[in-house]
Amino acid sequence: MASERLNPSQRGYGRRWRAFARRFADEWIAAGQPCALCGQAMRSTSWVDVDHIAPLVEEPERMFDPMNLRVAHHHCHARRTAQDRAAAERGYRLGVGSDGLPTDDAHPFNRGEVNKCK
Ligand SMILES: [Zn+2]
Repeated sequence: MASERLNPSQRGYGRRWRAFARRFADEWIAAGQPCALCGQAMRSTSWVDVDHIAPLVEEPERMFDPMNLRVAHHHCHARRTAQDRAAAERGYRLGVGSDGLPTDDAHPFNRGEVNKCK
């Protein structure tokens, strides 16, 4: 399943996005909100990323939707992106529901391929 990886500008991350994301991250940090991925505090000097909760490839119209955005440390986001990509290559998506269980029916847990807690 080889797909062409577009560069950031081609994917819509142009000047407008960068200005929007910078402001969104500044407001997030000024409000004292922690990293959305590790829960640790963030500083104005932290290298942070603004992440789309619902992937843009699935919901491109939510690019600037504040309800679809979260701020995370760059290193946390990079690790999560790598995990997401690895899962996608194995045919499923990461993510859990409010019950803590994987939401994707294709996840190995939901296919009964890993040991469930008794
Ligand atoms: Zn973090």
